[in-house]
Amino acid sequence: MDVIRLLPDSVANQIAAGEVIQRPASCLKELVENSLDAGAHSIRVLVRDAGKSLIQVIDDGSGMSVSDARMAFERHATSKISNAQDLFHLRTMGFRGEALPSICAVAQVKMTTRRASDEVGTLLEIAGTQVQKQEPCQCAVGTSIQVQNLFFNVPARRRFLKSDQTELRNLITTFQHIVLVYPDVSFTFVSDDEILYDLPVGSLKQRIEGVFGKSKSKLYTSQLLEIEQQTELVTIRGFVGKPEAASKQAQQFLFVNGRFMRHPYFHKAVLQAYAGMLSAEMMPPYFIYFDISPESIDVNVHPTKTEIKFADEQSIFPILMATVRAALGKFNVVPSIDFLGGNIEIPVSNEMMRASAKAPELHVSSGYNPFTPQKEKVSSHWQELYEPLKQVQVQQTELPQLQESETLHPQSVAGGYIVCAKDSGLMLVHARRAHITILYNQLVAQLQSHRGVSQQLLFAEPLTVSADEQPVLEALLPDLGSLGFELVKVSPSTYDITALPSVLGNQNAATALRAIIARAADGQSDIHADMQQRIALTLAQSAAIPMGKNLSEAEMTGILDRLFALSSYRITPDGKTVVVWLSAEEIARRF
Ligand code: ADP
Ligand code: MG
Repeated sequence: MDVIRLLPDSVANQIAAGEVIQRPASCLKELVENSLDAGAHSIRVLVRDAGKSLIQVIDDGSGMSVSDARMAFERHATSKISNAQDLFHLRTMGFRGEALPSICAVAQVKMTTRRASDEVGTLLEIAGTQVQKQEPCQCAVGTSIQVQNLFFNVPARRRFLKSDQTELRNLITTFQHIVLVYPDVSFTFVSDDEILYDLPVGSLKQRIEGVFGKSKSKLYTSQLLEIEQQTELVTIRGFVGKPEAASKQAQQFLFVNGRFMRHPYFHKAVLQAYAGMLSAEMMPPYFIYFDISPESIDVNVHPTKTEIKFADEQSIFPILMATVRAALGKFNVVPSIDFLGGNIEIPVSNEMMRASAKAPELHVSSGYNPFTPQKEKVSSHWQELYEPLKQVQVQQTELPQLQESETLHPQSVAGGYIVCAKDSGLMLVHARRAHITILYNQLVAQLQSHRGVSQQLLFAEPLTVSADEQPVLEALLPDLGSLGFELVKVSPSTYDITALPSVLGNQNAATALRAIIARAADGQSDIHADMQQRIALTLAQSAAIPMGKNLSEAEMTGILDRLFALSSYRITPDGKTVVVWLSAEEIARRF
């Protein structure tokens, strides 16, 4: 496996903390995941001021040796993978070795740790990457990490944090996503001396009860139905709510291989299983766990992202729907006539419905690797994994002034990069990101001036939205109009797309809109400008040339001209490097 060669040392050192640790909740997630990876049976979380003053995680896991304790804070030090192949069999939560160094870059960290085989433990104090203290100490087996004054040295970021109430809610959500996966580990969560959760080891059902039971009058889990389905492709288990458990704010959770995920498409599969059973706006609660071979989901799961790509989601959709449907049917929740007669519209063949009594038989050859045809893509992902937030670095290397008259002779390399040699050095441009940046700027301007360039469609393209997407879409309509979309509402859940922004060319408008809706719904900000930027970025990403596209010289020049005309072009709006400049000195130094 030669994927790993694409990760030069220099790249590995260029990750900034901001990407991994954005708020107290991301810090908590990293610490608790480390405890789980260390095999802890009991994990205690203590926070103060919504994590702004203190986040502490205490576990009874493996602990670390003296030298490991120190190593753990080095970038890309991890005990979890040693080569690229391991990436395809990930069973641990962490693997990048960036959490601890990122945390201590932006906070004051105190750690005590001891292995069961050691008499004494190690105490380590680090602040803003400076080791302040390291000494032997008496402590329990396991690890305790205290993170104090998050972002103490990054005031801008600290100011960016939301109210205590919001940050505490984020902490709790993060905590819930984890504890719902590990009923065999006990957890407590204490916020400002108040015990918010005390969850003993138990069954999954007991865990769900422990997390959500208190807030409900009836025994919460008595309203849940168990689901279980094993196929060659995927194992699905968990609980779905009886229709009467539906509410406007139902608890809905999807997990894959022990990670919480958002998956609008699978969400839709669950909802379709309830077709005809719920009144408008009512949502069923569900807790659904997928187990799938790690090879068939995208391994490049970014620590801050909850979207996960499945190689075979089209096949999983009907399995999931049939599984939920069968559970509802088995407990006589579905009027049996509907279930058998199929007069509820569901896009699953009757065979599938019948088969759902036993496991749907799906044959997947075990040697099949869904990512094989995209080998290069996987490799380039590998690199992207280490790319976020190189801004810091990029800003340090000054780019040369480009003269207007200067003719560049761009060359395309390695499918997707443009190289220009100049006397003073070598410039490398990431073509797709350059294009995204160009389009983004263009779209933001259009949003502000309401002057999007539209392209009428000969045949309207239909767009179906779910009940939760619909209000998001409605709110976006004015901005979408400014960009050149025209939508005609044909029913509460369907729209006809009659025109689209011309930047989209002949790309699928519905897909682009879906991406925009998903991104908008995900946002925590309700500032309009923020939302517009998000829309512009999503649309730019949909419309931009794909990575690896072959470009003619004219196209490359076109991109470079438009890129360098922008006032800011070194990084994409979401912080990824667009241009790398190797000065003549730098080149000389490398030899
Ligand atoms: P990663 O989890 O990606 O390996 P981290 O920066 O989160 O990277 O942690 C670095 C290393 O420190 C881990 O690989 C692990 O060996 C060690 N480590 C971190 N937290 C703990 C813990 N709570 N208990 C034992 N070892 C830990
Ligand atoms: Mg980790």
